[in-house]
Amino acid sequence: MTLPKFTYHPDPLATGAVVKSMKVCDCCGEARGYLYSGSIYSQRDVEWLCPWCIADGSAAREFKASYSDDFPLDGAGLKREVIAEVCQRTPGYQSWRQEVWLDHCGDACEFHGFADHDELKALSGQALQAFLSRHMLKANLWQDILDTYEKGGNPAVYKFRCRHCGDILYGMDFL
Ligand SMILES: [Zn+2]
Ligand SMILES: [Zn+2]
Repeated sequence: MTLPKFTYHPDPLATGAVVKSMKVCDCCGEARGYLYSGSIYSQRDVEWLCPWCIADGSAAREFKASYSDDFPLDGAGLKREVIAEVCQRTPGYQSWRQEVWLDHCGDACEFHGFADHDELKALSGQALQAFLSRHMLKANLWQDILDTYEKGGNPAVYKFRCRHCGDILYGMDFL
């Protein structure tokens, strides 16, 4: 079975947002082999959703559910259709406190999961400066973080890619 395509989350199996499971989806009532493992924001009691019910928006309609916070994207001035697609029709990601979906070139970025240690160590020049200033980090603190960084650890660093210029952006969250 082929998973639905998510413009802003191209490989949800690789990021762990979609996992193999034979549990039944709360929306379509079917066990289709895959379920979403990330956050679901809804007033209703909804535990399991399949990626198909996320992709076609049926779960968002049925449960008034969203999977990511729209506040950062709204604040970035993105188009309403883009915000709706990211928050209501795209698997979100697990974050320590609050996920922030990054944007670039007037569009939401693709989410690519946790950053690799090697790519973070390789950050330098302008890319590094931009990252440090976005997260208000001092260079020496960043060095300490790098020494102990683990994928999925605390702090977490997430990788995003701009769909237009290809720039890589990193989001960060910690407990
Ligand atoms: Zn479903
Ligand atoms: Zn860009």
